[in-house]
Amino acid sequence: MEDVIGVRLTVLGSGSAGNATLLQRGDQRVLIDVGLSYREVARRLDGIAVSPASIGAVVITHAHGDHTRGAALFSRRHGVPVHATAATRAVWSNANVSAWRDLQCDTPTDICGFRFTPFEVSHDAAAATVAFQIDTPDGAIGFATDIGVVTPLLRARFRHCRVLVMESNHATDLLQVGPYARSTKARISGARGHLSNESLALFVREDLGRSVRCLVLAHLSRVNNVPEIAEMTCREALAARGRHDVRVVVSRQDRVAESVDLGGPGPAGRQVALPF
Ligand SMILES: [Zn+2]
Ligand SMILES: [Zn+2]
Repeated sequence: MEDVIGVRLTVLGSGSAGNATLLQRGDQRVLIDVGLSYREVARRLDGIAVSPASIGAVVITHAHGDHTRGAALFSRRHGVPVHATAATRAVWSNANVSAWRDLQCDTPTDICGFRFTPFEVSHDAAAATVAFQIDTPDGAIGFATDIGVVTPLLRARFRHCRVLVMESNHATDLLQVGPYARSTKARISGARGHLSNESLALFVREDLGRSVRCLVLAHLSRVNNVPEIAEMTCREALAARGRHDVRVVVSRQDRVAESVDLGGPGPAGRQVALPF
C-alpha cells in the first residue's frame, strides 16, 4: 500500500443504495459515511490498494441507512472510532460501534490530520443532517451529499473551498415522469429532500467560489437521473460562468470514482490532477 503525498479524495460509491468516501493524506485515512455493506467497502478499498485496517476514523453525516449500513461493523472490526453528532447517535439504532466521538455543529474537530467543521443542512433524517467544511493542508473541501436546498450557511462555507462534493440527485423532468409515487416525488424534490441537477446548476451559476477547481457530483439517482445528463447540466452552468478551470467528476453507485488530488499531480494512477 502506497501512502499518498498530498490530500486525495476518492468517492468509493454514492447513491441511494449506499455512500462512502475515502479521504487520505500520507498514512492518515478517514471514511466519510460507510453506507455500503462492510464487505463491499472493504472490497472497494482493496481495489484501490488501501487496506481497510489502515482507516483511522469514520465520520457520519446522518443516520439514513445509505450512509450508515456498514459503519458499525467497520468500526468494531478495525477498532475505529465513529464521529457523529449526539442527535444522530440517538436515532441510529443498532449502532454497536468500537468507540464514539462527538461532533458538534459549527465546531471544528481535528480527525486524522483533517479539520472537520460540521454544519446543519436541510434534509429529512430524524436527527439533523450535517455537511462538512474540511480544512486540509492542500486547501478546503466542501462535502454535502444529502441536501434539499442550498442554504446561505452552505454558500458561505463552500465559497472558499478548492474541491466540492455536492449532490446532483435527479433531473427534475425525469423525476416528474418517473415511476415513483406522487408523495415520494414530493419528498425528494422538497426542501428537505434531495438536490436536483438544476438546483446544483443554479448554485454553480450564482454562488460558485473562485477558488473551486473541482466539482464531484454525488448521490445520483439511478431511477431519476443519468450520469451524462447530470454532468452536462453542471458543465453548461460552469460554461455560462466562464469557468473552464473546474474539473467535473461524476461519482457512481456501482464503482469507485476517479480520485481527486488536491495537491496536484501525484503518482501515476486513476487520480485527477487539479489545474491549480
Ligand atoms: Zn443519502
Ligand atoms: Zn439521507
